[in-house]
Amino acid sequence: MTDTERAQRYQTRMQRQKKVVDAAIARADRTQGLLLVHTGNGKGKSSSAFGMIARALGHGMRVGVAQFIKGRTDTGEEAFYRSQQNVIWHILGEGFTWDTQNLERDTETAQRGWAVAQSMLQDPTFDLIILDELTYPIKFGWLDLSMVLNDLKERPPMQHVVVTGRAAPDALCAMADTVTEMTDIKHAFRAGIQAQKGIDL
Ligand code: ATP
Ligand code: MG
Repeated sequence: MTDTERAQRYQTRMQRQKKVVDAAIARADRTQGLLLVHTGNGKGKSSSAFGMIARALGHGMRVGVAQFIKGRTDTGEEAFYRSQQNVIWHILGEGFTWDTQNLERDTETAQRGWAVAQSMLQDPTFDLIILDELTYPIKFGWLDLSMVLNDLKERPPMQHVVVTGRAAPDALCAMADTVTEMTDIKHAFRAGIQAQKGIDL
């Protein structure tokens, strides 16, 4: 094949692809608040959600964060975003269950936390809400799944919500518009490397 033939083939293939892409873009003609779920055992669920905060702030949007399980008190995202006027950051969990070891206390903490999340879900001035590690209080039975789903359903129509955490319930994934499962192929921690600032916290 000559260089001219190769260039001609490439152009034809790209023209065909552009038609497909343009048609797909033309079909997507609706706008609405989205429910996203980041689940799975691989790294990237929370950090991807926090990346969306930067996108939203770049568009002048207002963001609320509710962290349900507080594993660390020193994350870079919290330190950075707390200084942003358009971000409200709530830490609603006390720690991991293996730290607290108290079912009644964990249940109360989660329910108090959900009341805070609920108030954001009823407030249309929030354009984006991150419910970080919400799957755990549901999984442990501290929060009622149908209550959570109902509050998500009743939120303002243009409000976006991202839920993170492993083992997202099927009903939550079914209600969501976009669901991503992070796959754990390898993680440095298993090779004995400590959580690194800027990468893991
Ligand atoms: P990140 O906040 O880095 O996006 P994540 O939200 O997907 O991670 P979590 O289960 O919330 O994952 O865990 C947060 C911490 O645990 C981070 O320090 C992360 O690097 C680490 N981590 C995430 N997945 C794994 C894994 N599969 N094995 C070991 N450590 C992990
Ligand atoms: Mg996380």
